[in-house]
Amino acid sequence: MIVASPKSVTELKQLTDRHQKVLFVGCGTCVTVCLAGGEREVGIAGYGVRMARKLAKQPVEIDQITIERQCDNEFIKDLAPAVERSQAVVSFGCAAGVQALAERFPGKPVYPALDTQFMGILEEQATWTEKCMGCGQCMLAEFGGICPVTRCTKHMLNGPCGGSTSEHCEVAADKPCAWQLIFKRLQSIGQLDRLEKIHPPKDWSKAWHGGARKIVRPEHRI
Ligand code: SF4
Ligand code: SF4
Repeated sequence: MIVASPKSVTELKQLTDRHQKVLFVGCGTCVTVCLAGGEREVGIAGYGVRMARKLAKQPVEIDQITIERQCDNEFIKDLAPAVERSQAVVSFGCAAGVQALAERFPGKPVYPALDTQFMGILEEQATWTEKCMGCGQCMLAEFGGICPVTRCTKHMLNGPCGGSTSEHCEVAADKPCAWQLIFKRLQSIGQLDRLEKIHPPKDWSKAWHGGARKIVRPEHRI
């Protein structure tokens, strides 16, 4: 899922301080699961911003709606009447959701309520960790399902840098060395021979260095 962090009430107050009537829009998918931008978080943030604005003697009217997915026009279109009634929209979706709303409603300011962080998983209660940088050419099969592009701090593709200590990364001591994890994993599935392969430099044109990416799959068009 996409993992995001909520901006503070102070930041949200600053984002909206030129408007008197604002729509807060939550998203029911990834950001609900990571407790950043679902119905509950929209309610709490709405309360906080209303209070902050009241204390500053700049009261604001806030409408609140949470839709299933902010990155899908099928759900965004239902927002049109509420957007029409508001001076601005605050999106509690990921950054893709924010941009989807801005495209759909070109005449309205759309502000991000979250800081979008990474693609990751819930590691343990209230802790999310990054697992993928979206490099566009997945090599997980080569590394036992552990991504060195994302999880090795130096993005090493052909073995460890040699600096790890007590199985921790030399750059980030609070993180395990990704290559230690890869070695153990390949060992446990009987595929250590994969480490004998030399990987050429990665083709970053398939990643973000090639500009914003687009996927077209005509076979799914009807
Ligand atoms: S190899 Fe690329 S696509 Fe696969 S997990 Fe790593 S960053 Fe993501
Ligand atoms: S210690 Fe391990 S995770 Fe850290 S940079 Fe070196 S190889 Fe990568």
